[in-house]
Amino acid sequence: MAALKCPFCSSDDTRVVNSRPSDEGAAIRRRRECNVCHRRFTTYERAQFEALMVRKRSGRREVFDPDKLLAKLSIACNKRPITDKQLRGFAYGFEDDVSTPEIDSEEIGRRTLAFLKALDDVAYIRFLSVYRDFDSVDRFIEEIRQLGSNRGETTQPTLEQLAEESARDT
Ligand SMILES: [Zn+2]
Repeated sequence: MAALKCPFCSSDDTRVVNSRPSDEGAAIRRRRECNVCHRRFTTYERAQFEALMVRKRSGRREVFDPDKLLAKLSIACNKRPITDKQLRGFAYGFEDDVSTPEIDSEEIGRRTLAFLKALDDVAYIRFLSVYRDFDSVDRFIEEIRQLGSNRGETTQPTLEQLAEESARDT
């Protein structure tokens, strides 16, 4: 917590002499005394409600819900070598990496895809196929092709294997 300065002498050496809820619990009213000039003053401590808003393609807005994102991730990562902890870390930490009060749902999709791409190809493709709207099947195939061309080593599964596995599991 940032140092609280006395409004009279600007000392930050103050102490709470009593506190009680105010605004039906939405704020805490504290009576403080300055240890330097010994004058008393009142502070209000209020929790800030800053929900991240999601702008949907339809133009509708809704509050960002990490549980919803986690549910989608869990489906895409079903039986894949990705831990629950990794998914939770991403979903619950998501808001902390957004510096604007609002975000497009497409941007959430983009970031989620980038996260999955680094972890697991199958989960990535599943998420891509289910939650991202493509204007055409061609674009989807193109996306998978690009993923394949980024693969240098032959130890990675082939595109055919990925497609097969993705189709089997979903
Ligand atoms: Zn003072």
